[in-house]
Formats: sequence, structure tokens, C-alpha cells
Amino acid sequence: MTSPLRAFAALLALWLALVAAPALAADAPLTVLISIDGFRADYLDRGVTPTLSALAAGGVRGDMRPSFPSKTFPNHYTLVTGLRPDKNGIVDNNMYDPAITDKEFTMSRREVNQDPRWWEEAEPIWVTAEEAGVRTATMFWPGSDIPIHGVLPSHWQLFDQKVSAQTRVDTALSWLDGPVAERPRFLTLYFDDVDTAGHHEGPDSPELNAAAAKVDAAIGRFLDGLKARGITANIIVVADHGMAPVSQDRRIFVDDLLDMKAFRYTTAGAFLALNPAPGHEAEVDKALLKPHEHMQCWKKADIPARYHYGKNPRVPAIFCLPQTGWEITSHDYHPRTVDVGDHGFDNFAPEMRAIFVANGPAFRKGVRLPTFDNVDVYPLVAKLLGVMPKPNDGNLADTRPALTHGGRSD
Ligand SMILES: [Zn+2]
Repeated sequence: MTSPLRAFAALLALWLALVAAPALAADAPLTVLISIDGFRADYLDRGVTPTLSALAAGGVRGDMRPSFPSKTFPNHYTLVTGLRPDKNGIVDNNMYDPAITDKEFTMSRREVNQDPRWWEEAEPIWVTAEEAGVRTATMFWPGSDIPIHGVLPSHWQLFDQKVSAQTRVDTALSWLDGPVAERPRFLTLYFDDVDTAGHHEGPDSPELNAAAAKVDAAIGRFLDGLKARGITANIIVVADHGMAPVSQDRRIFVDDLLDMKAFRYTTAGAFLALNPAPGHEAEVDKALLKPHEHMQCWKKADIPARYHYGKNPRVPAIFCLPQTGWEITSHDYHPRTVDVGDHGFDNFAPEMRAIFVANGPAFRKGVRLPTFDNVDVYPLVAKLLGVMPKPNDGNLADTRPALTHGGRSD
């Protein structure tokens, strides 16, 4: 390169750094991903969530199929990696991996689940974005309070269920108050009230509707906060799974079939995942791998292909799936509270479908998408952020009809 050209290139680079980059950052809309845990797709039609209804009417809605199993941690990680649980490594809320520790991974056991090795079979979008120079902020999202591949969001908090929905919103808004060039371009919010009401009071209870209304009001407060700050945003509202009614009358007792000492289970309830105790393999196979009235069990290698599940070493040897609404338990299991709603069932069951609503300048108005898999959310978010997605199981073609200009950048 001749020296006048080199000088011009240097000047151009300086101009881009000083002028063009902040201008782009200022103009680019914020991307917001909101999870309402356990918000079943049809709750949107109950007339109790005016904010969400307005977002849907002025944008896009669709029923979203969770990945298998329809549990919280696996699906939250799928939403931000585009990989089904078998590939993203978070195969269940409860996991056992002797290569990591002799302690079980559970949602509440922070000292175990904070080991990054549980999470590093995949890379969540905030890590990819931060590494591409896009600032991110997570007001709770499973995994976002752990350094994954050594990276944390620019703003984040340790999960604390006691923090109110309103405080979550106000904290997220406060992160948007900095200078424009330092503002996050990607933000997540997470609300758990609807899932809790669904478990304790059931999906058809007045308490469920009250929880949905409360979260809806918090989202309204967030939108008002954006407006007051003059911030344009593309908003995507999702859930990790739906909720099915369960009953004391629909229970399968595994101890009627098998000595409890013959196996060790990681999860029971909406499914049973277990490893036979050493020397008890044949006994477990004989008791479980035969036809049952309200459940079916498989060796992990034989789980039907449509579930995309069973190749990961963290999936236990035997997996039993009950009919949706039935639960697998034992006679000696006496929980402190008896739940009347649950999830974790067949991800193709209508009861497991999750809300999807999107609104903002990138989205067309009044679009209803056919049911799609939740792996599609990741490539959509990557597209909105202008970040190169990692290899994933999703397909942008499934949500492209919802995008203005068919998703072309112009
Ligand atoms: Zn959940």
C-alpha cells in the first residue's frame, strides 16, 4: 500500500472508531429476550395479560414447542444456544456426571452448578455477543451468573428468587441509563411467578391468572421505562415450557414394579430417569422395559428419534415417560406440598407448548407463526444482534415470515 493510501486507511479507521461505531450503536435497536417461566401458549388468550396481548397484536405470536425434556434449565439453555438439551449439555434440572463431581447438579445447588464444566458443551448468545464487542445484560437467566468459557455478561446478578418482578425490571432499566456507547445491546429478563402458581395451584386456577397479570404489569413497567428513555427495542417474549394438570389419581408407583434399592434416580415425577445399581441391571430392565399402562420406558439408546435425546453421557441409562398428566412416584415419597401442575412431559403434548410473542421494528405486525421448535429462537436473536451464530439446531427460515423485509438487512 502506498503511503497516501495508508494514511487514508488510518484516517478512515479513526473516523469509524470515533464517529461511525457509536452512531451505529445508538441507532441499532436494543434486543430484549424475556422469559416467563411456565407461561403456556394459550394463557395469552385469557384476557388477563393486556401488555402481552398488545405486543402480539402489534407484532408476532406463535406457539412454541419446547425441547425434550420440557424442564426449565434444559430449555432455557436451548433458547440461548439453539442446541437441544442432549447437545447443549444441560440434559435435565438434575444431572449426574462422574467426570465432573460426585455431587448431583440441581437447580438450587449453586456450589455444584456453578462449575463451568456443566455449561461448556455449548456457548450461550451473551458469550458470543460479548466476544464480538456487543454488550449484554442478563437480569436472571439460567447459566448467566456463571463464567462460561471465561465470559460473563457486562451486567448480571446471582439468581435470587426473592427479588420481586418490579425490582428485576427496575434493575434492568438502570443498566440502560449509562452513556449510549456503553449501553447493553442485548438484555434478558426472567420471571418465575407463573410457573410457581402453575405447580402449586394448577394451570386453570385463579392464582395462575393473577400471577400472569402480575408479570404482565411488570413487562408493562419495563416498556414504559424504555419509552421514557427513548429506547427502541425488539422484544421477544418466550417461555421454557407449558404446564399440565396432575392429580393424586394419576400416579404410577415405581416401587410396585421394582425394589427402590435396585436403582438410583436423578428425576422422578413427569418422567423417571435412573441408573441401575451395580449388579441390578437385568432386574431393572426386566421390570421396566416391558409395556405399562400409563408409561413407557426405554434404554437411553432406544429413546425415539423425535425426542433428540439419549446420546449425551449425562442422560441416565433408563428413561421412563408417563402419559401426559400422569406422574411416576413411590409410596414413600411425601412432599411438603402436593403440586397440581407439572411439566417435563412429552414436548409434543399441546399442554407443554410455550408462549412466543415478538414486537419491534424488525417484526411485521399481525403475524401468527405456525408452531415451531424453540431451537429457532437462537438464530433469530443472533440475526437481530448482527452476531454470527454458532452451529445450532435452529432454523431462521421458521421465523423469517415474521421479519420485516423477510429478515434482510438493509
Ligand atoms: Zn420452567
